[in-house]
Amino acid sequence: MTSAHPASTETQEQAQPRAYLNFIGGEWRPSVSGQTFDDTNPARRDEVIARFQKSTPADVDAAISAAQAAFPAWRAMPAPQRGAIILRAALLLEARQAELARDMTREMGKPLRETMGDIQTAIDFGKFVAGEGSRPEGDTVPSAIPDKMCMTIRQPLGVVGVITPWNFPMAIPAWKTFPALLAGNTVVLKPASDTPLSSAHLTEILDEAGLPKGALNFVTGSGGVLGDALVTDPRVAMISLTGSTEVGRRVAELCGRDLRRVSLELGGKNAVIVMDDANLDEAVKAVSWAGFGTTGQRCTATSRVIVHEKVADAFGRKLAEAAERLRVGDGLDTATEMGPLVNQGRVAAVHEYTEIGLGEGASLLTGGRALTEGELAGGAYYAPTVFTNVKPAMRIAQEEIFGPVVSIIPVASYEEAIQAANSTIYGLSCAIFTEDARTVFRAMRDINAGLIYVNAGTTGAEPHLPFGGVKQSGNGHRELGHKAVEEFSEIKTVFVSYPDVK
Ligand code: NAP
Repeated sequence: MTSAHPASTETQEQAQPRAYLNFIGGEWRPSVSGQTFDDTNPARRDEVIARFQKSTPADVDAAISAAQAAFPAWRAMPAPQRGAIILRAALLLEARQAELARDMTREMGKPLRETMGDIQTAIDFGKFVAGEGSRPEGDTVPSAIPDKMCMTIRQPLGVVGVITPWNFPMAIPAWKTFPALLAGNTVVLKPASDTPLSSAHLTEILDEAGLPKGALNFVTGSGGVLGDALVTDPRVAMISLTGSTEVGRRVAELCGRDLRRVSLELGGKNAVIVMDDANLDEAVKAVSWAGFGTTGQRCTATSRVIVHEKVADAFGRKLAEAAERLRVGDGLDTATEMGPLVNQGRVAAVHEYTEIGLGEGASLLTGGRALTEGELAGGAYYAPTVFTNVKPAMRIAQEEIFGPVVSIIPVASYEEAIQAANSTIYGLSCAIFTEDARTVFRAMRDINAGLIYVNAGTTGAEPHLPFGGVKQSGNGHRELGHKAVEEFSEIKTVFVSYPDVK
């Protein structure tokens, strides 16, 4: 095991941030560019957490070569042994959870209880998927021909390119890397440039858990610069990307040219429907958490609340009060309920949507401005924002804002609510609050989304259940659950003939 940051001594670490290297073929190496970029704290824009390699396509090429070289031995290792390495990694994550959560809060901004939760989902899924190494699924099927037996077995694909976003810096890299490795693939991981530190920690931990050299390779740098080199290399059998629909579309187009397998988990414009018989306080609490948790930067964040007109005013008043009560601040402070946005650029992007909403005629109930007073000066803070009198076709009701902005859309009936809920290009997550069992079952049928929540907000995943969206929220794959390994493997059908040749 080589060190991810060999240049640092303890004294230097106090004076300057650590410089992390790429991990290629089991060695931590600098990029051929000789350049680095800064990983900064969105709560204090001048604080550099760590430095990372500004890699080039040549570094990606070296990582793919290392992954390709490691593939034959890794796929030959019995799957239960591969699972044992993943289990060790999950236990190491568990042992270091608090320290890893602090680093994640510093690089990404969300409060400690959320970064602890992010790592917890990586731990839980690691433990779950490790066991899948001992129970790979296959069919044993009778043949139509005498003296013949048929079966299906799963085989790995080869080198998998994993590209991840910044909003779940440990969970999403783990959700992809663990099942890809378990299935016998080798991996090149390219994390988001806003949050490479958590992926560096995951890489170190998998190395420490006993992963052979080259099975996992880690390359940092701009997706715009490195993306094509990874996505179009003929040695890469599959790309697994979580990110924006815009980037997903480009990656899918490039993969489509070579018919490369591509798994996409993309954007959302998730709605909560609140019927007139709903428990309003329960709905407000859920929307406040699902809309403003992670500062509205979850793919499953609630950004629309479709409310029956009989209760829309009361709901809006209560939600605005809840938004104003939220304690906004540095996520390292345990009293903080909502942290900063991931970077300063996102403050301007979110504020642009406030202006778009006002221009479209929506009514601003609260928020709608950057927060720069007192301790918030120097951080990427934006006030929890609530619009009402929003129409389903408005841009603030159609486009993913990815910030703490919730739009209330009043409707007159269940039918109108479903029509509004299904009216965007996205279909990731949707929720309904009602006390009527018939309405619950109708909504389960009528809402076109990959995830449905009843009397709960639009967020939350469990490791043993599939996770993903329909329409332009993805391309039909699902993460998590026991089917996660299928995504990273291929079916092989085997026909065995055993006629008596005496
Ligand atoms: P993003 O800008 O699309 O970036 C995602 C990843 O793609 C990053 O690693 C990025 O690298 C890389 N990338 C950028 N341009 C690329 C290119 N041309 N080719 C290949 N890779 C490229 O998304 P984000 O801002 O990190 O994350 C937010 C988005 O992710 C939201 O839309 C959210 O809804 C979605 N998301 C979806 C799910 C889900 O499960 N459906 C979960 C979480 C997030 P750089 O960082 O270096 O640019």
